Amino acid sequence: MSDRSQDGPRTSVPRLIVTQDNEFWFTAAREGRLEIQRCGECRTLRHPPAPSCPRCRSIVWDTVESSRRATLHSYTVIHHPPDPAFEYPLAVGLVDLEEGTRLVADIAGIPHEELAPGMELEVGFAEHAHGDVLPQLRRPSGGAA
Ligand SMILES: [Zn+2]
Repeated sequence: MSDRSQDGPRTSVPRLIVTQDNEFWFTAAREGRLEIQRCGECRTLRHPPAPSCPRCRSIVWDTVESSRRATLHSYTVIHHPPDPAFEYPLAVGLVDLEEGTRLVADIAGIPHEELAPGMELEVGFAEHAHGDVLPQLRRPSGGAA
């Protein structure tokens, strides 16, 4: 496990580019938390992480932890080009997070014919190519309503 580039399936998936602007996000994902960047001036939430606020241009920010509750906004099912890092056909969804920002991730464990805009989903995490931990959309786990 010392150098993942030398084992595992050959993949054309690019390696993550982790910078001081997005490192907090990938670190949280590894710990099972979905964080959303929040402007320290106007409090606008933004994703993906960026150095400054698109609304007021402030570079001051903090984060809020998402409930990981999401609603499917749109989705697509990818057949080509196949990459050994994924199983095909591969469903990829764009969701509206409860907090208001959007997120794109693959959808796991749901028959594609059941996918429909407006359905409730939950953001989980899964290990992807190169050992990276990224969000994955799933059925809500239930429990507390
Ligand atoms: Zn702002």
